Amino acid sequence: MKYCPKCGSPNVEWVLPQTWSRWRCKDCGYEGALIIEDGELAAEIRKKYKDKKG
Ligand SMILES: [Zn+2]
Repeated sequence: MKYCPKCGSPNVEWVLPQTWSRWRCKDCGYEGALIIEDGELAAEIRKKYKDKKG
């Protein structure tokens, strides 16, 4: 499972199959090489992201 490092959403996809080191988050619009595979860490990020958003 892959998660967005910005909002913790599992709703991430490759920008291009050929450049699979780049990811895009469908939820927050994050785009970059960093991706999280740790579900617990993702849950924490998601919690903080939601708190910030209100
Ligand atoms: Zn995101």
